[in-house]
Amino acid sequence: MLECRYYEKFDSLKVLCVLCPRKCLIKNSYRGYCRSRYNHEGVLYTENEFISSLAIDPIEKKPLFHFFPGSKILSAGASGCNFHCDFCQNWQISQCENKNLIKLSPEDLAEKALDLVSSGNIGVAYTYSEPVIMIEYVLEAAKIIREKGLKNVFVSNGYIEENPLLDLLEYIDAFNIDVKAFSEGSYLKNFSADFNVIKKNLKLINSKVRHLEISCLIVPGINDKIEEGEKFFEWLSEIDQNIPVHINRYYPCYKSNEQATSMKNLMAIKDVAEKYMKFVYVGNI
Ligand code: SF4
Repeated sequence: MLECRYYEKFDSLKVLCVLCPRKCLIKNSYRGYCRSRYNHEGVLYTENEFISSLAIDPIEKKPLFHFFPGSKILSAGASGCNFHCDFCQNWQISQCENKNLIKLSPEDLAEKALDLVSSGNIGVAYTYSEPVIMIEYVLEAAKIIREKGLKNVFVSNGYIEENPLLDLLEYIDAFNIDVKAFSEGSYLKNFSADFNVIKKNLKLINSKVRHLEISCLIVPGINDKIEEGEKFFEWLSEIDQNIPVHINRYYPCYKSNEQATSMKNLMAIKDVAEKYMKFVYVGNI
């Protein structure tokens, strides 16, 4: 275990985690909302030796369509997440603690990535579960990956405070940010989260000239309102019309029995995105 970088100590052995906007105040022997950060006697710890998942994937699977197309990327994830979505597709690792069963230090991950270059690997993607909650691991690995001339990819919900994001921006070459809803009300109601943080972070990532693509899983009742989608894509186009957008179809998963997104709604969201953005792709169909 490693001491976390982004927290403050309080009295009675409590700590305040300032990695993401949830800002959990964590009592001794408890974990934060994401289940990945653990307070042991007034010190906040994170895992830095084990991960939950490892695979080599086509870069398009992240999804990134405009970043080294046709290449492969070694993909690693931890367990836990700072969102608890009812429809999570990776709930076995995201909605639990201690599923980090593969012993692999950041140095070993970088070595593995380098070994795979001859098979078309371009670097490492931090993905599967939410990589924000493994940021110390990511920063350590990403620094080595960068030194070796390889690429770092971050697939995230984008729910992170500004200082840690600025640290990531030093080393991450490409981001895919999962935009889960198109309005403040929907983010608050469905995810207890602040949409303004996501928008601010999208702007910041784009301003640092890092490669950015966004994904939107269209879930009935959460983000299938055309007017809300229109407002969001109009806003996004003012940042940069060239940001590729992935509009994905939802299917029932985990705790959600809601029917799959209708093709009619999916295409209506795609059409409204295309009014403002130049590169719109439909997935999961
Ligand atoms: S990273 Fe985890 S512990 Fe820290 S504030 Fe966010 S949810 Fe809470």
